[in-house]
Amino acid sequence: MSRPIDLMRPNVLAQPAYSVADARGMIKLDAMENPYPWPGMLQQQWLNSLGNLELNRYPDPSAQDLVQLLRETHGIPGDAGCILGNGSDELIQMLIMAVGGSSRPIVAPLPSFVMYEVLARTLGAEFIGVPLQDDFALDMPALERVLLERRPALLFLAHPNNPTGLCYPESEVMRLIKLNPGVTVIDEAYAPFTDRSFLPLVGGYPNLMVMRTLSKLGLAGLRLGYLAATREWTDALERLRLPYNINTLTQHSARFALEHRAALEDQARTIRCERDRLTEALGRLPVVARVFPSEANFLLFRVKDGQADELFYGLRERGVLIKNVSRQGGLLADCLRVTVGSPEENTAFLDALGSLEPIP
Ligand SMILES: *Cc1c(COP(=O)(O)O)cnc(C)c1O
Repeated sequence: MSRPIDLMRPNVLAQPAYSVADARGMIKLDAMENPYPWPGMLQQQWLNSLGNLELNRYPDPSAQDLVQLLRETHGIPGDAGCILGNGSDELIQMLIMAVGGSSRPIVAPLPSFVMYEVLARTLGAEFIGVPLQDDFALDMPALERVLLERRPALLFLAHPNNPTGLCYPESEVMRLIKLNPGVTVIDEAYAPFTDRSFLPLVGGYPNLMVMRTLSKLGLAGLRLGYLAATREWTDALERLRLPYNINTLTQHSARFALEHRAALEDQARTIRCERDRLTEALGRLPVVARVFPSEANFLLFRVKDGQADELFYGLRERGVLIKNVSRQGGLLADCLRVTVGSPEENTAFLDALGSLEPIP
């Protein structure tokens, strides 16, 4: 009899499965989801529009109408190519599958979005994490050294970064793009919550890719991400995209949402206002040592030494689920991450955290 341990690749066996906390019945502030449903009228219109879909047929393999609409609404440069993924997670996987077989490593600053490292490891590519500085700024000398000495295939820069919420100075990112002999992928998952973007530059720099997702805007359940890059790169990546990776319901619903995007954009604006309120209120709580300024829909905050677990579980007992990033250790020791929710959810979170006593 063959068991997984006999047949599966050791690097896959070494990787724990991605685990998601059970959030039933909780105020869910752990995964950067948009807290708002669609306005009732829109919900009904969407439901009515589903009746015409032919689920017995395969979807449009290249989702042409959706790509065209994304180009128009998101300002993807005309000379750039665009490839869709089942969430940007799938695009990260595609990119690493495409180049990870080369002897050149995958590089990202740490801490950052965990999937870069997880997918590099499961796909058998070498991953190099370059630690950020104490204040989560880029360590430019260390990064420049890795780019020149190790010539990575891919450099992933989440911008704003997850889990810190910070953007980097534009001059530093530009310097890395120009210096990197491999491809620089700017992951703009939090674009709806910042005014900064490198998307207009795609096409102008042969090694620059920009990745976005509709997840954080309010469509996490649809699973849709896109990657903008030179046409040479997107044509090459088409070779390993699964033919029908964007299903019919997603293609249709994403188009519907983009045609009615004012509602989602309103929600993003409200979330930005709530982020500012939450930043200020958190900073006034005695258990909080520091709140990092965020350009995303979440906040990273540091608590007093050794109290992160206690506070995380205390919140959970009070029905509020956030993310305990302190467990990742290193620069994230004593840090917690909270998603910006609705005003009511944020107030409930602040009240719960305020009711927890700092340990003397
Ligand atoms: C959430 C997140 C993603 C994943 O997006 P999906 O499209 O839902 O797969 C990618 N990158 C960063 C930095 C994220 O925080």
